[in-house]
Amino acid sequence: MADPYGFLKHTRAEAKKRPVAERVADWNEVYLDLDQQTRDSEVRTQATRCMDCGIPFCHSGSAGCPLGNLIPEWNDLVRRGDWELASERLHATNNFPEFTGRLCPAPCEAACVLAITPDAGGAVAIKRVEQTIADVSWEQGLVRPTQAQVSSGRKVAVVGSGPAGLAAAQQLTRAGHEVTVFERDDRLGGLLRYGIPEFKMEKKVLDRRLAQLRKEGTKFVTGCEVGVDLTVEQLRERFDAVVLAVGALRGRDDTTTPGRSLKGVHLAMEHLVPANRACEGDGPAGIDAAGKHVVIIGGGDTGADCYGTAARQGAASIVQLDQYPQPPSQRDDARSPWPVWPWVLRTYPAHEEAGERRFAVAVEEFVGDEDGHVRQIKLRKVRVEKDASGRRKVVPMSEEVELLPADLVLLAIGFEGVEHMPLLDGLGIPLTSRGTISCGSDWQTTAPGVFVCGDAHRGASLVVWAIAEGRSVANAVDTYLTGSSDLPSPVIPN
Ligand code: SF4
Repeated sequence: MADPYGFLKHTRAEAKKRPVAERVADWNEVYLDLDQQTRDSEVRTQATRCMDCGIPFCHSGSAGCPLGNLIPEWNDLVRRGDWELASERLHATNNFPEFTGRLCPAPCEAACVLAITPDAGGAVAIKRVEQTIADVSWEQGLVRPTQAQVSSGRKVAVVGSGPAGLAAAQQLTRAGHEVTVFERDDRLGGLLRYGIPEFKMEKKVLDRRLAQLRKEGTKFVTGCEVGVDLTVEQLRERFDAVVLAVGALRGRDDTTTPGRSLKGVHLAMEHLVPANRACEGDGPAGIDAAGKHVVIIGGGDTGADCYGTAARQGAASIVQLDQYPQPPSQRDDARSPWPVWPWVLRTYPAHEEAGERRFAVAVEEFVGDEDGHVRQIKLRKVRVEKDASGRRKVVPMSEEVELLPADLVLLAIGFEGVEHMPLLDGLGIPLTSRGTISCGSDWQTTAPGVFVCGDAHRGASLVVWAIAEGRSVANAVDTYLTGSSDLPSPVIPN
């Protein structure tokens, strides 16, 4: 039984970060590496704030955890210091809690009863508790390979090794199927490897989980583009089912602003991927912000990743632009039109490290020098409105134009869906108007025996949704291959 008064005795406390000067000098995770005793004691105090609500909004539903994480259960187990059972209950619904604990913006915390109750001191620090359970699990050797008891004799190909593909592969391997994950890159992990900077999640966290999957029997093939290096005919001949977990990496470009074609104007991933490769030891980053005036266009997660990366590369200045006005930092303004915290003003550790954020502004022109390289940006104050048909419209709010120095411009304005790939042509699978792959209620695409999950189905989204869809598609594939399935299916296709 939880302590119903815990939240009155203890205040919410986030994990402490390393000093800015120290962390921008390396690529390691930004949080302080506390000694185990201090960390465990602090996190037990945080878990004590959980009331074990009769209806735990954190746990599931439209606003809570898509995985249906058993949050009140493991909060109470942590409160009591039973890390082993907490680990078991956490892994019962989440294949990779060390990923979500580090990367998820925690819709569970937004939904927590303490977050939506005035003067309750804020949500339970669920994300911090989750990450600590996961880290303790690894430290104490509680994460062990789980081998299937019986082999089904059926073979499944998973295309893509991001969080959705890995979750599907682990679930299906444990159900007894022979699973091969194909990755076109030279290393495994998809966005977890080459999209997410080290300072958010060190790659050793990914590698130890991949080692567990290997020991369980999942096979991996890197450097293989399915549809090219392995033909669609070979894929169909060798596998009984296929899971497409190919992500939604087609970056949205700015095709209308004059000067887009100047040198020095890049999509965000053109900056992040080589920077992450450099951290893997692949040589210097391709697009280096060192000594440059960097302007990041777009106020979301990817923009924040560019921000922290540019800070570590030694940018001369960093400015992140957002067309929307600065929202309140907490949801204490009941009149706020913004959705609930933490969706308001997502501030990342990177934003403390350097530079500034500018709101309610839009770029009018990228201005270049005689060599065709961007040197300035013309900026105007704007307001975002909806027109009569509900379409988003950016309205200038001033005649005044500001000039901002800019040697490197990074467009972090979202993703437009699945990249073009011969595999989809070969399978005869069309993309939706959103650039995603649609499926039926059984996660099956228009191609029989071919399933889809994660960003490729949902559009660019949160790591927690990728894992949830990977688990659900595994249930669907298992059912397709064997007629029924005991695997959990936390979400249904949208
Ligand atoms: Fe605990 Fe918050 Fe979930 Fe209630 S909603 S069970 S207080 S984490």
